[in-house]
Amino acid sequence: MIPYRNEPLTDFSLSAHREEMQQALARVSEQLGRTYPLVIGGQTINSDTIMESLNPCQHQQVVGRVAQGNKEHAEQALQAAWDAFASWSRVPIATRADYLFKLAALMRRQKRELTAWLVLEVAKNWVEADADVAEAIDFCEYYARQALEIDQGTSLTAIPGERNTMIYIPLGAGLVISPWNFPLAILMGMTAAAIVAGNTVVIKPANSAAVIGAKVMELMQAAGLPAGVVNYLPGSGSEVGEYLVNHPRTRFINFTGSMEVGLRINQQAAIAQPGQIWIKRVVAEMGGKDSIVVDETADLEAAAQGIVQSAFGFQGQKCSACSRAIVVDAVYDQVLDRVVELTKQLSVGPAYDNYRVNAVIDAAAFAKITSYFKECASEGRLLTGGEYDDQQGYFIQPTIFADVDPEARLAQEEIFGPVLSFIRANDFQHALAIANNTIYGLTGSLYSNCRARLEQAKQEFHVGNLYLNRGCTGALVGVHPFGGFNMSGTDSKAGGPDYVKLFMQAKSISERL
Ligand code: NAP
Ligand code: MG
Repeated sequence: MIPYRNEPLTDFSLSAHREEMQQALARVSEQLGRTYPLVIGGQTINSDTIMESLNPCQHQQVVGRVAQGNKEHAEQALQAAWDAFASWSRVPIATRADYLFKLAALMRRQKRELTAWLVLEVAKNWVEADADVAEAIDFCEYYARQALEIDQGTSLTAIPGERNTMIYIPLGAGLVISPWNFPLAILMGMTAAAIVAGNTVVIKPANSAAVIGAKVMELMQAAGLPAGVVNYLPGSGSEVGEYLVNHPRTRFINFTGSMEVGLRINQQAAIAQPGQIWIKRVVAEMGGKDSIVVDETADLEAAAQGIVQSAFGFQGQKCSACSRAIVVDAVYDQVLDRVVELTKQLSVGPAYDNYRVNAVIDAAAFAKITSYFKECASEGRLLTGGEYDDQQGYFIQPTIFADVDPEARLAQEEIFGPVLSFIRANDFQHALAIANNTIYGLTGSLYSNCRARLEQAKQEFHVGNLYLNRGCTGALVGVHPFGGFNMSGTDSKAGGPDYVKLFMQAKSISERL
């Protein structure tokens, strides 16, 4: 087996790659508007209820029509997962890992098409969409290798007269609930880890990205996974999602999404239902309010570039996005001016045409993000952006508020859009205190050339993913294991060496010789 390495990103400055991308977009455009059924126990199932998934940049365009599951479908899906568990849990780990290698190979082969689907369904520009596909490939390659390592076993202390071992076994049938913002990578990663561990799953994709969810299911089928190992159950989160969260036979829930939903799932899953014989395991990765701190010793140009990229990449719709730039007074105006200047250069337009900044995901997100412009206008000086237009697509100009109070709503709430707040700090100590002042703790960056401060940040900047002298987005599988502290989640460290084991339980076996 070749050693793990990250899937290379595509260089779209090369005309050959641009042409391939244009062709893939044209091919995918011809497939818009198709209907995607549920897949339960290997059977496709149509539903009376259909949800239309729209192109955020052009919301008249229907990307796909997705069948919506109801409670009966949810019941069937969980039953199908348990039926499949009996044999899947006994399939050797090495064989299960092979399915992940196959998934990675299939995604490599269909890379441009998958990228095009992401461009059209969630409005990622080509670079962001390509990175989402690469991450999905990485998760499969990485978790397959992790599973093979787990298969090597652990060594225990030996005592005379006994043979002692500890093995990792799967949990059972579980639920995977994914967000729309990394609809391929996160859904694929959460699912791949669970199944390579020997579990079977019901996947509930986010509604705004359910066509990509269907593509994930198609990949599972193309990889030859036995029926019922993965069951595709699109539908309303509050209906089928919640139904299965509360179900006594759901063994685990692997959730990524907002804090509100994650906390609700955690709370509901904690209640033992009649007939339930286990404590449900909940892995919940949730929101963020991430900061980049800049001190007076920093490379200010690098800091400004890092802030702009981290704040406005994918319209700020990343859990890791920089939504707060906390800059010490001595260089505050300088950094702010440069960030505003760079932000004004960002092109805004359709993802299809590869503009840097594209539409936000849907009408609800558009309404929520722009509500801050009205409700929080007095919380900061608006330096650029603040304009929006949803006639064709849900476009919001990259927006910067300056001189925001660290306790203001703009500085505390996850807006999840292209909105950046600048916060002035007296000095580095003060900046670090502000950086730690939210309920979240996902990512954070410090730009500084002072070794003592970098070391201090390692100890005191309380985030799951700390970056020094680089932006706070773009975690790579295997390189930057990802997961947050506090209300950002259970710190599961997706893409890290401990992740697959979260979906397993250890069994100690002791034999008297
Ligand atoms: P969301 O609104 O919480 O939805 C996530 C998933 O939960 C969707 O599939 C949703 O279904 C489902 N859901 C909604 N209500 C539910 C309920 N009562 N019971 C069970 N499931 C339910 O999140 P999102 O808007 O898709 O994604 C954005 C959020 O995800 C942001 O807060 C972002 O920070 C976070 N995120 C975190 C990470 C991380 O690694 N920490 C990564 C990516 C995103 P519907 O589509 O039907 O609503
Ligand atoms: Mg949502």
